[in-house]
Amino acid sequence: MTSLTTRILHADRLGGVEHGAARKPMHTAVAYGYPSARELAAVFQGEKPGYVYARQGNPTTAALEAKINLLEDARGTVTFSTGMAAIAATLIALLRAGDHLIGSQYLFGNSYSFMLTLQRMGIEVSLVDATEAGSVAAAVRPNTRIVFVETIANPRTQVADLAGIGTLCAECGLVFIVDSTLTTPVLFRPRDTQASLVVHSLSKGIAGHGDTLGGAVCDTGLFDWSGYANILEPYRKGSPVGWGLQQIRKKGLRDMGGTLRAEDAHRIATGAETLELRIARTNANALALAQWLEHQPQVARVYYPGLPSHAQHGRAAELFSAFGPLLSLELQAGLRHFDFLDALRLVILSSHLADNRTLAIPVADTIFYEMGPEGRAAMGIADSLVRVSVGIEHIDDLKEDFAQALLAAGEGGLVRAGARGR
Ligand SMILES: *Cc1c(COP(=O)(O)O)cnc(C)c1O
Repeated sequence: MTSLTTRILHADRLGGVEHGAARKPMHTAVAYGYPSARELAAVFQGEKPGYVYARQGNPTTAALEAKINLLEDARGTVTFSTGMAAIAATLIALLRAGDHLIGSQYLFGNSYSFMLTLQRMGIEVSLVDATEAGSVAAAVRPNTRIVFVETIANPRTQVADLAGIGTLCAECGLVFIVDSTLTTPVLFRPRDTQASLVVHSLSKGIAGHGDTLGGAVCDTGLFDWSGYANILEPYRKGSPVGWGLQQIRKKGLRDMGGTLRAEDAHRIATGAETLELRIARTNANALALAQWLEHQPQVARVYYPGLPSHAQHGRAAELFSAFGPLLSLELQAGLRHFDFLDALRLVILSSHLADNRTLAIPVADTIFYEMGPEGRAAMGIADSLVRVSVGIEHIDDLKEDFAQALLAAGEGGLVRAGARGR
């Protein structure tokens, strides 16, 4: 079976589901009992598979982990309560004070904020232009352990030099972590560019319906953890290929407790069944909308990796099977982005992304407000940047809404220009 959709629809069932249920049932039990102390001890010591306490996982999160594993063609997956929980747990589990991490300077706002938290904990952090592997290479130090990038950066859609950075990390023995939230396994598998670990916010495209939060980290199996200094003695068990994820699971779930609830895992698994269908629609809509927006007189710039005008269009076309659901735009000088946003009727003003519904947000005033003008300038975020996450509505309905909102913003600009002239 090679089709993603076929695989995730039938994988549970073919593995043997309780009572022959056509869909994997949900397990909400917190505790698990065993017939003998010997068996209980064997499960605790990792000698036998089994569940001990739901903070460390249960059959429902395990079923979702198996699905994501299939999607990423990974060696192992751990789920978390949110994407940020997955990122924080992974980096805290793998880093120590005095280590050095290289991150992309184009990061999701809260990941950027977490990099500052790591710095306060004594971890050295360099944020560099990840669209060039050379900038990453120039930042490598003797104590560098990890390189962390996003496939398509949110909100300006810069595409990281994934192949170049993957090669560099393989040569230098660095853990290469790729946040593939915006690409999802439908567009791109980070293992193809030698990623060690793949991070997903499951709250976004994989769940898709905007009714649940979740995160995941997948181990591609490409990194040899035997040479990684920070693996603690209890996790140096079995093949070294599994050590890193073992430590992330134990430290991340057992010690830090950012566990995904069974109810949420169940919902995410439902969403994942239609991932490929939804992605086809949102990505086709986003491309059509980006092409159309580029020709509107009120629009100064459109950022979308699917446009030939995008700085990394060629790279995106080479690496990804489509260009994602996210675009951003700047209006012509003199037009107010708030006028445009307030005039939207169908599109929701919201901070979420990769939802079934189309969402728009003024970036500098909201999600990237906290980092201030200098931080935004380093990320290429103009004060008037509007991010649009394109949903599955009919494209004609979307164009109609954007057309009337652009017209309204243009009229507002004309009125103000007229007032100034008087
Ligand atoms: C949303 C997002 C996250 C964080 O995920 P949450 O589930 O909201 O915690 C991380 N990375 C990227 C690229 C995101 O878009």
